[in-house]
Amino acid sequence: MFETKASDKMKKASFLIVTALFLFAAGHTVGVFADNAADIVVRVLIMDDKDSVTTKKGRDGNTYLNGRRFRGKVDVVKKNNGKVMVINSLGLDEYLYGVLYHEVSHRWPMEALKAQAIAARTFALYQIRQSRSQPYDLRNDIYSQVYGGRESEKWATTIAVNRTKGQVLTYKGDIFPAYYHATCAGHTEDASNLWNVDLAPLKGVECNFCSESPHYRWTKNMPLSTLEDALDKNGYKIGNISSVAVLTKNRSGRADKIEIKDDTGRSVILTGKDFRQFLGPNDIRSTKFNMVVRGPVLTIDGVGWGHGVGMCQWGAYGMSRTGMKADEILEHYYPGTEISTIDKIKL
Ligand SMILES: [Zn+2]
Repeated sequence: MFETKASDKMKKASFLIVTALFLFAAGHTVGVFADNAADIVVRVLIMDDKDSVTTKKGRDGNTYLNGRRFRGKVDVVKKNNGKVMVINSLGLDEYLYGVLYHEVSHRWPMEALKAQAIAARTFALYQIRQSRSQPYDLRNDIYSQVYGGRESEKWATTIAVNRTKGQVLTYKGDIFPAYYHATCAGHTEDASNLWNVDLAPLKGVECNFCSESPHYRWTKNMPLSTLEDALDKNGYKIGNISSVAVLTKNRSGRADKIEIKDDTGRSVILTGKDFRQFLGPNDIRSTKFNMVVRGPVLTIDGVGWGHGVGMCQWGAYGMSRTGMKADEILEHYYPGTEISTIDKIKL
């Protein structure tokens, strides 16, 4: 539906075709830090490994790419492998306008949207600082923050970004990777169980607010051969699987170690994180699950969606429904942090 509308518009307007190819070089900077914190530019990878891409500049000031509109600057960058990637450089808040809709429902209470805006701004700023020598700061997928450009902007989410202008979360006076996820199902995860991140605000807290989440419970049935193939692809040798079991769980109730045995008695031990990654994070929605093998089928009964670290988005929704404010939501999920402003942060 949208594709049709956009292409009609594109036919009506006359565009300047700006298919620009830039040679990629390490340290290539599309966006730079400005003295004024309000001018911070985010560089988002919006497309990768394409043979060629055509962008069109509209009279409305937006750049069109495959029927989608993007604010700011859109650069097509040639890579060493001959393919191209597309990087969208735009203001930090303009970027957040295109993120929030993908992360939360724009119909949620404003305080939940504001909490999400502050967490996403903090996360983006942290990524910008970490990626200065890289060609981009963030990707537009689940591995960073999902970003959809102008088509993803909604009235309520834009208001949430504007009402929290300049606000970031700090711990001991500095920004930190303010991770968040869809649904924790009872307890958020300690970041150090997943990554090399050992921070007091990311140690995990109880959450009794996300039970309304449609992602609270999930079940996945798969042929054992799917797991055998996934293990093989990742370098683990195993024959015909005879049993799969969660050996240990961590404090937040998530699978820590998983043992898979074959009919010759050989066994493989995996972390819950690897197990989820090997089978696909959208099929295995979290590492909070129990498993049973019935004949040739593995049944996984799980709760929650996402890595579980930091703010539980459906929990933020639940808290806002009880009248709690954005600062109370953030204090709950990131204990020991406070809301500060970008101008107080050393970038
Ligand atoms: Zn939760």
